[in-house]
Amino acid sequence: MPHDYRTLTQWDHDYLWHPFTQMKGFREEELVIITRGEGVYLFDHLGRRYLDGVSSLWVNVHGHRRRELDQALREQLAKVAHSTLLGLASPPAIVLAKRLVEITPAGLSKVFFSDNGSTAVEVALKIAFQYWQLRGRPKKQRFLKLSQAYHGDTLGAVSVGGMPLFHEIYRPLLFDTLTAPAPYCYRCEEQERCRSQCLTRLEEVVETHQEELAAVILEPVMQGAAGMIAQPPGYLGRVREITRECGVLLIADEVATGFGRTGSMFACQQEGVSPDLLCLAKGITGGYLPLAATLTTEEVYQAFLGEYHEFKTFFHGHSYTGNPLGAAVALASLDIFEKDGVLKNLPPKITLFSQRLAQMADHPHIGDIRQRGLMVGLELVADRQAKTPFPVARRLGHQVILEARKLGAILRPLGDVIVLMPPLCISFEELSTLTDITYQAICRATEREA
Ligand SMILES: *Cc1c(COP(=O)(O)O)cnc(C)c1O
Repeated sequence: MPHDYRTLTQWDHDYLWHPFTQMKGFREEELVIITRGEGVYLFDHLGRRYLDGVSSLWVNVHGHRRRELDQALREQLAKVAHSTLLGLASPPAIVLAKRLVEITPAGLSKVFFSDNGSTAVEVALKIAFQYWQLRGRPKKQRFLKLSQAYHGDTLGAVSVGGMPLFHEIYRPLLFDTLTAPAPYCYRCEEQERCRSQCLTRLEEVVETHQEELAAVILEPVMQGAAGMIAQPPGYLGRVREITRECGVLLIADEVATGFGRTGSMFACQQEGVSPDLLCLAKGITGGYLPLAATLTTEEVYQAFLGEYHEFKTFFHGHSYTGNPLGAAVALASLDIFEKDGVLKNLPPKITLFSQRLAQMADHPHIGDIRQRGLMVGLELVADRQAKTPFPVARRLGHQVILEARKLGAILRPLGDVIVLMPPLCISFEELSTLTDITYQAICRATEREA
């Protein structure tokens, strides 16, 4: 017997603590309970249909209820749901490791599985740290991050995070890091005549601190949760050069940008960059199950080899590492990428998306539109000339997504940046619907009295 809406709402209020949510206000809003999905649509308890405009928080790739993915999952389920990678192996994990090495940038040759984006980042940080210890460079212990960075919610990932709102309170628990300014062109004083000051600053910090720097960590091409901060062309390539020159590892966090989001399979490929460590999660299973991978090079991997009693082992692993169900559905997702020519079909969608976004550009409260592939951020401002933000208490971003919901789309804001990040399978017509709804929702929310 399915429970009715009132019962579920009551139990939600009684028992559930939602992530990234102020529960006080949340209980006063209508609770949307999603009961099923189909393609790019989600359906709620009342049968209302919503376009999934942020891919169920950036994870969905080929749509919901994709037949091949459902089937791959069922087939694996008929064999075994889970067995461990600690001392044992399973076919889906083995084959997925090989496939990931084949499709990621050259030089990455080993795959370490975990469960989510934060653990993929923790693994990368610990490998980078231990690598230099093993190489006899014990002073190389520090990490350089970009301002506004977001790399997950566990404490290591928070240490390399740069969002005061999420991270500041935990400061006493975090390790110390170096920071370079994010290339946030919209709010940069140099915007009119860019002299790449942010990049110069990063180069200076890397050069000055190379003796103590283990790695630079960044999201290539587009910093997602930072507010969709897009890097100028050439930025990533230069970061790779400077890290290589200074003997500092480069960790590319492609948890958000990976699997086609920016138009190429991985964002690093847009600048022909091979990082030393690559973090993958979110879209890896097509948005079906939690699974993550950290890839690294032969050079890094070899440093960990030795006799058991030398204790060079990487002592890290999670209960569900390399879960066979997740790995099986990840393999089926990669098959769809090939079979459907997903990447080949993206350019016309990206172009249409750009055109539709350009039509919004005159709105008096849309200050900046940032797009890389199917990742988009619309920064809303009270005054376009002065770029003044709306008062925080107005929660404008939140008001926009509530309006969008009424109009039939699920969005999610980052403060007053409205994020659009639809599944890659979205059709031209659905893309137009998504941008229409977004525009209308912004109009309604900004026209209303504060
Ligand atoms: C979402 C995200 C993470 C964290 O992933 P979780 O699966 O939520 O732990 C890390 N890095 C980036 C860039 C992300 O977008």
